[in-house]
Amino acid sequence: MSLLQSIQQISINHPNRLAFINRSLVLTYQDLWSRSDHLASYIQNHADEQHSPIIVFGHMAPEMIVSFLGSVKAGHPYIPVDISIPIDRIKKIIESSKAEYFIATEEIEDDFLNNYPIKEIKCKELEQILQSSIEMLPKDNWVSGEDSFYIIYTSGSTGNPKGVQITANNLQSFVDWMVTDFPINNQGVFLNQAPFSFDLSVMDLYPALSTGGTLFAVTKDMIANPKILFDELSFSNINVWTSTPSFAQMCLMEPTFSNNMLPALEVFLFCGEVLSTETARQLLERFPKAKVFNLYGPTEATVAVTMVEITKETLETHSVLPIGRTKSDTQLLIVDESGNPLPDGEKGEMIIIGPSVSRGYLREKILTDKSFFIRDGERAYRTGDAGYFKNGLLYYQGRLDFQIKLHGYRMELEEIENNIGKSQYVEACVVVPVYRGDKIDYLKTFIVPSEHSFEKEYQLTAAIKKELSKQLPAYMIPRKFSYLDQLPMTPNGKVDRKKLSAEVMV
Ligand code: AMP
Repeated sequence: MSLLQSIQQISINHPNRLAFINRSLVLTYQDLWSRSDHLASYIQNHADEQHSPIIVFGHMAPEMIVSFLGSVKAGHPYIPVDISIPIDRIKKIIESSKAEYFIATEEIEDDFLNNYPIKEIKCKELEQILQSSIEMLPKDNWVSGEDSFYIIYTSGSTGNPKGVQITANNLQSFVDWMVTDFPINNQGVFLNQAPFSFDLSVMDLYPALSTGGTLFAVTKDMIANPKILFDELSFSNINVWTSTPSFAQMCLMEPTFSNNMLPALEVFLFCGEVLSTETARQLLERFPKAKVFNLYGPTEATVAVTMVEITKETLETHSVLPIGRTKSDTQLLIVDESGNPLPDGEKGEMIIIGPSVSRGYLREKILTDKSFFIRDGERAYRTGDAGYFKNGLLYYQGRLDFQIKLHGYRMELEEIENNIGKSQYVEACVVVPVYRGDKIDYLKTFIVPSEHSFEKEYQLTAAIKKELSKQLPAYMIPRKFSYLDQLPMTPNGKVDRKKLSAEVMV
């Protein structure tokens, strides 16, 4: 049964079961199905182009999930865009995706899309559409097979975000793996920590919806107010915890975050960044009945492709945790710089081959050809991640390029540099990560300023930050700014990043 058919079946058999909870906002399976039918009907009757992408803007609103399903039932992929993304970046996404609709589930500035060739459905209009009377929708309009189901925009080294296209087949392969190989029971309650514009959210969204589960959303307001967060969590009855390790680490700072607060918790699923032995150890101590899994994968291969359970024995025998074994329909090779497979124990680039590998970046042929290729008839992706196999288990060894993870967020240092470089006050710049232990704590930028009239450096910093906030989400803006007369150079004339990185070692 396809993913959409499973959700439809649940809406028929268990119409009143809750699909989604965001504090007082709830959505039943019946409402999810019928409201998304209304939207699909509207899109089918009004869209000019078949398969044109549909942007869904908001922050963990039930209408976002309704709009996702409404889009794919009408045969269109959706692009989730969280409210943390600044307007100029959203405009870049609109331009590069050529999306036909912008569905707003949150209020937005009135004139923000003026002059953009996109049809806007604002909150009020969306509500009217979701309640309208509908025509029956023919099933064969559903997104299926090699059609794109969703497109997630990630940081791109060229200075612009790039849209990873995930097909219905990609997603099906991922969801089938999740519900088969993990101890996920039907009708479980899943933590939904990542906003929908990050692919980690797919790890809870579709495994939950295809098994009749309930998503329990943690919004940015809850994260900003730990008292509310932990009060809400203690009533959540969560069974499956999906988050970045950073989020779990933050929760562990609260002494009452334990089995007493979440007695129904059975499984922790982590992905997106390094899971430290310390975080895993504390979780196993505080949640003795729960299992902890480490998963690995990039957005380009649909969330995750490897997994391993981290037990007490794993912690006794490892100082660095493995990322596990690949799902059965997928192959992961370690290759050298010429693309030749390396034997066990040798470090090289990880290549993912299999049915969950994306068909590439939307309208970005050059970028797509650089990272994606066909191997033995299957799609393959060069991850840019280094790793090695030992005794059948895979170990992550960091990046081969300038992509980093900061507090769970993926970003390209080059994209940040590109945007800082556009400032009228900047002549040249470099961004370096500042580590605390083996984890990135924050970003620092070294800037050669162009002529300006500010008396103090902090005024200059404030002016550059103000410009940047229009281009980049807050989590991509460096915390510290430092000014130089010129950037240090290596003997072969490149910017000496190593020297600057060494300066920020703490
Ligand atoms: P994203 O596309 O945001 O999911 O980020 C993908 C990148 O996150 C990968 O290419 C890795 O560099 C990193 N990553 C994902 N999972 C893990 C993991 N379990 N351990 C270490 N790094 C990870």
